[in-house]
Amino acid sequence: MTGGSRGIGRAMVRALAEAGAKVLFTYRQSESEAKALEDELRPSASETGSVRCDVRDAESVRSAVDAALTRFGRVDILVNNAGILREQLLAFTKETEWNEVVDTNLKGPFLFCKALVRQMGRQHYGRIINISSVAALMGDVPRASYCASKAGLIGLTRAVAREAAGQGITVNAVAPGIIETDLLARLPETKRKSYEERIPMGRFGHASEVASVVVFLASDRSAYITGQVLCVDGGLHM
Ligand code: NDP
Repeated sequence: MTGGSRGIGRAMVRALAEAGAKVLFTYRQSESEAKALEDELRPSASETGSVRCDVRDAESVRSAVDAALTRFGRVDILVNNAGILREQLLAFTKETEWNEVVDTNLKGPFLFCKALVRQMGRQHYGRIINISSVAALMGDVPRASYCASKAGLIGLTRAVAREAAGQGITVNAVAPGIIETDLLARLPETKRKSYEERIPMGRFGHASEVASVVVFLASDRSAYITGQVLCVDGGLHM
């Protein structure tokens, strides 16, 4: 899985390892956080490991996939979680900023799917889970690049779901709403309140609540679900 060093990804690594999966997760910059997570999980999930990878770079993705195949012999589950957000009104969005967001949030998952789909097809088994966002379904200001990249990821999810359905591979997207992460800890109280008022359940989500849905989609209990977008958002989008 990509982007396991922090935030929602870290909760996913924990939950997948607790469910018995052997997890290789990627980080890009947060090496110390990644190593701390490995240390935390070592007593119960000794097979958990991490590898540096920039999801925007095809060679880096190839070597992360090779590392997983060398370590485990096969890859059954791919979670494309790594993502970035750049806030800027459309008129002021620089082309470089746009490219950075789209390359991370959409090209990265494309590269990982491409690198693994044939191997999953050969083994007639695969679970691909792409982490999108309710922002892709609702639009959000000032986040055009983010919304476009995450909506593109839903298109990729459905296209690959159709393409790979006959090979025992399911492909789904999870669309989190507003989730408590380090990012939100810095949110001013007034802004926090106005966000909370928009959510029917009246609170932000926890990373573990997204992680448990990912564990479900990665398991055999979701065998007949493909091409879907599961919102984990307290009712924000319905
Ligand atoms: P964080 O910013 O906490 O973590 C992002 C993760 O992505 C980090 O592990 C980071 O690695 C990794 N990453 C970023 N850029 C790259 C890159 N180029 N190559 C490899 N890894 C990279 O984000 P969240 O946990 O909040 O979000 C996780 C996912 O959930 C994202 O896709 C996000 O868009 C989505 N999401 C989040 C919501 C929220 O409210 N938090 C709401 C809806 C969707 P490192 O630190 O090592 O660089």
